Amino acid sequence: MTNLRSLYNFNGGVHPPQHKEVSAGRPIVKAPIPSRLTIPLHQHIGNVAKPIVQVGEKVLKGQMIAQAEGYVSASVHASTSGTVSAIEMLSVPHPSGLPDLCIVLESDGEDTWAERIPLNYREMDLSALRNRLRDAGVVGLGGAVFPSFIKLNPGPQQKIQTLIINGAECEPWITCDDMLMRERADEIVQGIEIMRYLMRPEEILIGIEDNKPEAIAAMQAACSNLHFQIDVIPVPTIYPGGGAKQLIKVLTNKEPPSGGRSTDIGVQCFNVATAYSIHRAINHGEPVISRIVTVTGNVTLPQNFEMLIGTPVNELVALTGTPKADTNRYIMGGPMMGFDLPSDRVPAIKATNCIIAASPRLFPQPPAPMQCIRCTRCAQACPVDLQPQELYWFARAKNLGKAQEYFLFDCIECGCCSYVCPSNIPLVQYYRFAKSEIWAREKEKQASDLARERHEFRQLRIDREKQERAEKLAKKAAAAKAAPTPAVEGTANPSGIDSDAAAKKAAIQAAIERSKAKKAGIAPKNVDNLPPDKLKEIQNIEARREKIRELAQKEIE
Ligand code: SF4
Ligand code: SF4
Repeated sequence: MTNLRSLYNFNGGVHPPQHKEVSAGRPIVKAPIPSRLTIPLHQHIGNVAKPIVQVGEKVLKGQMIAQAEGYVSASVHASTSGTVSAIEMLSVPHPSGLPDLCIVLESDGEDTWAERIPLNYREMDLSALRNRLRDAGVVGLGGAVFPSFIKLNPGPQQKIQTLIINGAECEPWITCDDMLMRERADEIVQGIEIMRYLMRPEEILIGIEDNKPEAIAAMQAACSNLHFQIDVIPVPTIYPGGGAKQLIKVLTNKEPPSGGRSTDIGVQCFNVATAYSIHRAINHGEPVISRIVTVTGNVTLPQNFEMLIGTPVNELVALTGTPKADTNRYIMGGPMMGFDLPSDRVPAIKATNCIIAASPRLFPQPPAPMQCIRCTRCAQACPVDLQPQELYWFARAKNLGKAQEYFLFDCIECGCCSYVCPSNIPLVQYYRFAKSEIWAREKEKQASDLARERHEFRQLRIDREKQERAEKLAKKAAAAKAAPTPAVEGTANPSGIDSDAAAKKAAIQAAIERSKAKKAGIAPKNVDNLPPDKLKEIQNIEARREKIRELAQKEIE
């Protein structure tokens, strides 16, 4: 049902041209199975999943091919049936352009499913249910790709009052969530029911930008006959109103603290596509092997496709007709927060919500940047209440400490500041650079801290061993001192306990005697004809030496 609740504003935001109508006019189409799929093992935030198949192995659709490793991770599955032809480093869709470990799958064209076991989640232990989501590779499909089972377990200390389902989809050009809500609203709601079972929130809100009337109507209809309440709330169309923090602010007037999480204020937020995949995973036993992707921009027939994870981008683009000749790059995500793909041969993955074919006509090169004129328009547009111009100066001067003081890490890289800057300064790029510098330095610092810790530990170990040795010797000496006088030669020593010590002592004594005799036998040299004062001096020295020898002998005893 729709709730007439008050809405709140966040600061700033911009109104870029939407371009959504171009891909939202046609229904979702199932993309054909490609002959070869490249499935990256790191499609989520956290640890890379560990491969559990071999090259040459035959796999079924939905079969786990890489297992979640560590707590923050999610499993990866075969998107169709076929044969594993390679496990190697390949180009993946990532802003770094660096290759990553992938499993290459040659499709057998039969698309044979592995066994799918639907679950009656209401009878399941919450922890087992979350583990099932982890094994099914469920991650945030709004773009963040954070493993969902973790977000569904805020911990006993953090009660979730409000569960927010994000259907805002505020970036221009993207319509995959809009189409999903229009066509599969009931299934999204079934996913929300599972989330409700796991989190027991006091209220559930679905926020949808008011430029999606069909999606709002479909979700309202799907929520109308439930045994619990879900409020479908149209929110104003303003970018970045679909950012989790901004949507939370608009719907609840609450703001997560700087550096904190939304659970700190009793709110958790999931994308509509994530709710849908939770439903597929639990109610149908299907892991995340496909998603809806918008293919739009400089293409003949922009459209949404349900594509298998691992489908090459060029094959998706080809589904929209012959690629236009002036296409000069492909953007993954929206034009505000997306990034250029290193090639159109990389695979589409769980985070791929949109592929935009770009051309100089659609996305003209921005004019050369000029000097900052301190107009503060960037600050007025910033939805996080930052001072983008100050951040720019600090990042440019590599004054990273100051940039952090000015909350650099609260920047969500939405690009509103760059969008409004009359000097065409690519502000976000400066912030990304500053963040990456700080991370690199932090890594270096961690490495040197680790090396120092290791060195200190080694030193500590050496000192401790020295001390232990000294203590052992002292104990031995004390024991020797406390030992009874050795038996006189010929006297019986029935116990035999001190016979070793006595033998040692006798040997030392014999050595001392030998040394004395030797010394006595040696006549001092060069002492003939010395004046009496020199002789006296030598005698004194000899006397002192003798005294020292005596003392040394006493120590030994
Ligand atoms: S909008 Fe651009 S020119 Fe104006 S203050 Fe910000 S960075 Fe400077
Ligand atoms: S990119 Fe960062 S600094 Fe710029 S408007 Fe967005 S949040 Fe503010």
